[in-house]
Amino acid sequence: MFSREEGVVAALSARLRQLQATEHQKLGFPGWSTPLPAELLPFFDFELNNYGDPYIDPVFGWHTKDLERELVEALADLFGAPVGDRWGYVTTGGSEGNVYGLWLGRTLYRDAIVYHSDAAHGSVAKNAEVIDRRAVIVGTDDRGEMDYDALRRALSANRHRSAIIVATIGTTMTEAVDDVVEIRRAVRDAGVESCYIHADAALSGLPLAVLTEGPAFGLHTVDSLSFSGHKFLGAAIPCGVVITRGSYRQRVRETISYTGSPDPTLGSSRSGHTALVLWHRLRTLGLSGLRQMAEYTRDLATYAERELRTLGWDAWRAHPYACTVVLKSPPQPVLDRWPLATVNGISHIVCTPGVTRERLDRFVSDLAASLTPAAAHATAA
Ligand SMILES: *Cc1c(COP(=O)(O)O)cnc(C)c1O
Repeated sequence: MFSREEGVVAALSARLRQLQATEHQKLGFPGWSTPLPAELLPFFDFELNNYGDPYIDPVFGWHTKDLERELVEALADLFGAPVGDRWGYVTTGGSEGNVYGLWLGRTLYRDAIVYHSDAAHGSVAKNAEVIDRRAVIVGTDDRGEMDYDALRRALSANRHRSAIIVATIGTTMTEAVDDVVEIRRAVRDAGVESCYIHADAALSGLPLAVLTEGPAFGLHTVDSLSFSGHKFLGAAIPCGVVITRGSYRQRVRETISYTGSPDPTLGSSRSGHTALVLWHRLRTLGLSGLRQMAEYTRDLATYAERELRTLGWDAWRAHPYACTVVLKSPPQPVLDRWPLATVNGISHIVCTPGVTRERLDRFVSDLAASLTPAAAHATAA
């Protein structure tokens, strides 16, 4: 490991070749990457540290907080955050956004119980532990959407305690969308007085926000919202954004730091490069570019679902705007060629903006080939 440079170049090029080869198998997970634009490359020669609060510049100049603020403000507009009462920052990903939402909820309501569905991302249960709150798991329907009657019953059983509820906007396995209006109704019916709602919109937040139709949600109905930058947007480095109310940010205990910025974030030293990449992505795509991407992924998923059904293979989507197609797990030889997220005999393919129709066609024809009697015989043998 600590030998000098010999072999490093060879090791890197072997790794690169392997990456280039596996790129064409990407179909089963929500991440993808766009090439880094050449004009951004020189910035990676420099330290960029957005330490602490993006709204307050440090005493030093090596940061991108001005771009981060522009990004957060544009997204706050897009998600309908109240003007004059918004705040947010670039995180390390959807999971940090989730723990931030839970932490804010607990800061506002110290006695709160966390409620999330059994289709919520694994980081939610883990983060309930991190903030040392009891988590109540609520069931879901057969598409993965929260069962609001079950939520109402769970809330009623604890009506004297505050609630932190995580609504998943696009569940990991089926991309089902929890309905925040129904959640609010359950809270009201149960007589719970204090409630904080965090929307985990890791994958679907952006596409649903830019499409002109589809399930509605936004920061006018939730207290915080987070999404991932390496999913729909295709940042090559894991990252994300969390947005909440400016008034909540004031409630977080913050350390005054020697950098000149107070620090209400979880990361403290935060990447200025991911803020730069996300800012560049939004600036160059614009709203129309984002909308085109969202339409592309929705249409590709519609196509994929139809192709699989034509083949006689079980396939469905949680709603007509989802880019995730849920399917009966393909035979093992197909899974060996196409790594797919698979749970209990169910798999999914995620039509990210990086997936081409040609790639989908190859997957479907591999699946078709595996269903011929000869292939079935080979598998059995
Ligand atoms: C991917 C995902 C996350 C985690 O996001 P990261 O950016 O990978 O940390 C959280 N919630 C949902 C619903 C997800 O699909």
